[in-house]
Amino acid sequence: MSAIDTLPPLRQVISDHDLVARKSLGQNFLLDLNLTAKIARQAGDLTGCDVLEIGPGPGGLTRGLLAEGARRVVAIEKDQRCLPALEDIAQAYPGKLTVLNADALAIDPLEHLTPPIRVAANLPYNVGTELLVRWLTPPEWPPFWDSLTLMFQREVADRIVAKPGSKAYGRLALLAQWRAEARIVLSLPPEAFTPPPKVSSAVVHLTALPEPRYPADPKQLERVVAKAFNQRRKMLRAALKGMAPDLEDRLIAAGIDPTQRAETVHLEQFCALANLIHA
Ligand code: SAM
Repeated sequence: MSAIDTLPPLRQVISDHDLVARKSLGQNFLLDLNLTAKIARQAGDLTGCDVLEIGPGPGGLTRGLLAEGARRVVAIEKDQRCLPALEDIAQAYPGKLTVLNADALAIDPLEHLTPPIRVAANLPYNVGTELLVRWLTPPEWPPFWDSLTLMFQREVADRIVAKPGSKAYGRLALLAQWRAEARIVLSLPPEAFTPPPKVSSAVVHLTALPEPRYPADPKQLERVVAKAFNQRRKMLRAALKGMAPDLEDRLIAAGIDPTQRAETVHLEQFCALANLIHA
């Protein structure tokens, strides 16, 4: 029995089901249920919400989410070995947990979910950024999710919340901050995981804004930002060469000095530039 529910402690679950962690699946498990409940609490009030979880593994965070009162949890796990352990959780919380044995990059779980939807995950590092970019760039805004509460390598978390002028500032920061409020809510040392990864981790909480902070066409903004940061050490008049005939005038009209580098340009200026180049 554990602190948050009547299921066995996670070390026992792992040994009962012989869940030796696999590096190829990015498996670094959280075994402290008080910690997984704390992460679940960062996702906000879960009562009345469906939660999408990616990579439940032996189910530490899943149990945290259910113990915190999630209306339902839909969990996508690629590793078949974890299914019996997850089935035990489903039985302890009748009708509340649906497990999809699939690759999160290849499945659309929306038919299993009812709004309001929150996403929470201790993401496999190899697919985390790809999923985040997908969640941040849907065809329509607002997206299907109200909030994302996600574990990343510390370095990736820093890139999501970075501000202009910092080394971490780039495409990911702009993408995240244009249409969401992003903050780091928890830092975790390698020892919090079994086995411990080489680097520290952090939980980032993103809340979807009802509409973008500044108006811009998503595709144009993405194009300008990608090109600007592709050669981040170059002055923008050089990095963005070829994007518009009178590029320098448009940079100035957007409030940007053509000799500025991408890493010093604010989101509002990038949006203005995307609109001016589009026009
Ligand atoms: N949530 C668990 C925890 O906190 O202890 C496990 C986290 S572990 C970092 C990542 C989990 O994602 C593993 O269980 C792994 O099998 C699963 N996984 C890896 N790649 C996946 C993919 N493409 N789709 C779904 N699950 C995946």
